Amino acid sequence: MSNLESDPAELVATATATVDPGEVEILEPRDVPLGGPRAMNVRRTLPQRRRSLIGGWCFIDHYGPDDVSASGGMRVPPHPHTGLQTVSWLFSGEIEHRDSVGSHAMVRPGELNLMTAGHGISHSEVSTAATTRLHGVQLWVALPSASRDTAPFFEHHVPVVGRLGDAEVRTFVGSLAGSGTAATVFSPLLGAELIVPAGSTVRVPLDESFEHGVLVDAGDVSVSGVPVARAHLAYLAPGRSALDITVGDGDARLILLGGRPLGEQIVMWWNFIGRSHDDVVRSRAEWQADVIAGGDAAGRFGEVAGYDGSALPAPELPTVRLKPRG
Ligand code: MN
Repeated sequence: MSNLESDPAELVATATATVDPGEVEILEPRDVPLGGPRAMNVRRTLPQRRRSLIGGWCFIDHYGPDDVSASGGMRVPPHPHTGLQTVSWLFSGEIEHRDSVGSHAMVRPGELNLMTAGHGISHSEVSTAATTRLHGVQLWVALPSASRDTAPFFEHHVPVVGRLGDAEVRTFVGSLAGSGTAATVFSPLLGAELIVPAGSTVRVPLDESFEHGVLVDAGDVSVSGVPVARAHLAYLAPGRSALDITVGDGDARLILLGGRPLGEQIVMWWNFIGRSHDDVVRSRAEWQADVIAGGDAAGRFGEVAGYDGSALPAPELPTVRLKPRG
């Protein structure tokens, strides 16, 4: 997916862990319309003013379940990315992915589509005609400085289902509870979907060097004793060896993310991650010149073959630059 805000702010993000390891910090979602004539809303919990990174995870969009049989669902035209990986993970529905390195793949529930943008890539995402219910998450991982100019590539992985007490675990990045994938990562990371039955408690072992986030998709959930409402994100600082998920009424679905603090300052704007304002200015200029103005189809962002329609122009750059935040 793309950041389709019409006037995105530039964000300077630094890794910080300002809460005590014993605390659970609650981050509220904000509603972001994806724009276009058939607008779809997403709930964004990262980045935000209070916190911008969990390990390398730097962007969490959560959407649905939406009945898209009438609205037409998701239709994101070709758009660029730099310096990051996109992680597409669905609970229901189907999305068709095409990119400028020639990939053409379906995103389906329980299957990871991982796109490493590195130096630069472009892609389109369209929910299929058969999709009536669209529900899932789109996540981004910021690449460490040493890897951020890597050549772009695409991967598809299907994790086996693991068990953790009463919970079903699908680990799409890293490994947990006998589930995992060989997804390529550039800093230590964990990403997993947990389905926890009503009325049960599950203890999740953690890597103490990681910070973690728990996004609640469904269910009456407490994380280590702290209630976490639907679509909210619980943040846990490094230094914990486990967390407890307690579920009341209704089966719960959660996304657990973790990673070693990135320890680098990143600059995010629109669909680009760089290390400076100038990086972002250069990426925007190359996208506009090579693709939108049709200057060089073999340029940095290439061409998405098979998409019926025009690529997405970049918004205007903001005139005000934001102060660092973490
Ligand atoms: Mn995208």
